[in-house]
Amino acid sequence: MVQDKLYDLVILGGGPAGVTAAIYGARAGLSAILLEKMIVGGEIVSTDRLDNYPGFPDGITGAAFGLLLESQLQRFHVAVRAAAVEQVSFKGEAKKVFTPEEEITGRAVVIATGTVPRLLNVDGELSLRGRGVSYCATCDAAFFRGKDVAVVGGGDAALEETIFLSRLAGKIYLIHRREAFRGVKALQEKVYSLPNVEILWNTTVEKIEGERRVEGVRLARDGKELFLALQGIFIYVGRQPNTGFLRDEVPLDEQGFIITNEKMETALPRVYAAGDVRRKELRQVITAAADGAVAATMATRSLAVGS
Ligand code: NAP
Repeated sequence: MVQDKLYDLVILGGGPAGVTAAIYGARAGLSAILLEKMIVGGEIVSTDRLDNYPGFPDGITGAAFGLLLESQLQRFHVAVRAAAVEQVSFKGEAKKVFTPEEEITGRAVVIATGTVPRLLNVDGELSLRGRGVSYCATCDAAFFRGKDVAVVGGGDAALEETIFLSRLAGKIYLIHRREAFRGVKALQEKVYSLPNVEILWNTTVEKIEGERRVEGVRLARDGKELFLALQGIFIYVGRQPNTGFLRDEVPLDEQGFIITNEKMETALPRVYAAGDVRRKELRQVITAAADGAVAATMATRSLAVGS
């Protein structure tokens, strides 16, 4: 274990919340380090298009947006580690973060670890994951060119990814358990206009079938069972917070989201949470970025008072 430096600010997660916290911290003169286990940009990188972030009148692809975040981080000389946090110790003055390679210590910490896809929890989902079962249309759509697929869910993500898949896949069955979508109207209207999308309302997936790859899904509707032959299924039934590594260090709500006040403060001094990982009403890139700005600003003020 190497431990040679005390950072002012340790940021967990490199999505819009974490990157914004890093930029605000660095501009305030704090020494900051950001840990990201996958790719700077976070979840947005695997989104086809970001259409509702001000300043991009024509929208921007998630991948291009992620690259912009990364180059902005570089301009502010924030240290970045490609590392997954395994454990933390936040109760003392020194906030400790443990990765497989090192122990990193900071005076303040911002948790911005986002969310991971929620599972549908049906037979065949895990055994056929990566063999026709996917949680990322942008990543995997190319494997389904001209093929019949299903999308499950009725939120923004399911609608957005249905629109994306409609350009590549053959027929798309959009399977939703109710008869009204939760996603925004603009996305709903676009989905209704797509000729290769068939919406299956009030329908649930009971089982995903296939020997070596997905061959079809068994559905239930109105008490009846039906089978759809298809080659892929994209699951968008919501997301769950990435907070398992916190164990019982920080108070969470019943769903595992971090509880903060509007200053992004958790119950522990100098431990802040920002973005999708915290309990909040609206999970969007812009609200994540705003949370990151608030968290870093509050950390800066607290460190100035305490130092
Ligand atoms: P979401 O809004 O929570 O929607 C999840 C959908 O999955 C709901 O329609 C829900 O049905 C359905 N569902 C949940 N559990 C299910 C189950 N066990 N079986 C079948 N269906 C199930 O999740 P999301 O679409 O991933 O979006 C997450 C957050 O990110 C939201 O705040 C969303 O606004 C945001 N987001 C925004 C954008 C954008 O602004 N462009 C894009 C993507 C995501 P019910 O409706 O019946 O509950």
